[in-house]
Amino acid sequence: MVDPNDPAAKALGYVEVATQADATRFKNYAAGQACSNCSLFAGKPGDAAGPCPLFAGKQVAAKGWCSAYIKKAG
Ligand code: SF4
Repeated sequence: MVDPNDPAAKALGYVEVATQADATRFKNYAAGQACSNCSLFAGKPGDAAGPCPLFAGKQVAAKGWCSAYIKKAG
């Protein structure tokens, strides 16, 4: 799993629980966003965690969030 305290994670504002996102620092955060509905999340629906290309070799929490969030189409 990605450590939220890892410098690369901190730079992206990654948190394991999306509601803890720093909405002051990251104006693009909106309620309801989470890794599980981000287009970059490579986990399967229902998985608690899955791969994200921004954190190669590690998994991000399905309920997590980072500032590179892109809403999954559809
Ligand atoms: S890019 Fe998407 S899936 Fe990856 S950590 Fe950020 S919000 Fe989560």
